[in-house]
Amino acid sequence: MPTYDFRCRACGTTFELNRPMSESSAPAPCPEGHADTVKLLTMAGLSGSAATPAGGGGGGGCCGGGCCG
Ligand SMILES: [Zn+2]
Repeated sequence: MPTYDFRCRACGTTFELNRPMSESSAPAPCPEGHADTVKLLTMAGLSGSAATPAGGGGGGGCCGGGCCG
C-alpha cells in the first residue's frame, strides 16, 4: 500500500498516510483535525541525498520536504 504525504494548510503540519491508490485523492484530515490539506507529490522509496541541490551550503532540509513555496 503506497504512502502519501499530506500537508495541512491550516497549521502547516505534514503527515503521512498509508492508503490504497483508489483512495489517493480522498480527503485526509490532518492529525490536528483540519480538513484543508493538500497531497504532496512524493515518491515512496525516493529518499536520499541524490536530490541535494547544487550550490547548497549545507543545512537546509526544508526544500526536501516540499514545504518551500
Ligand atoms: Zn492542521
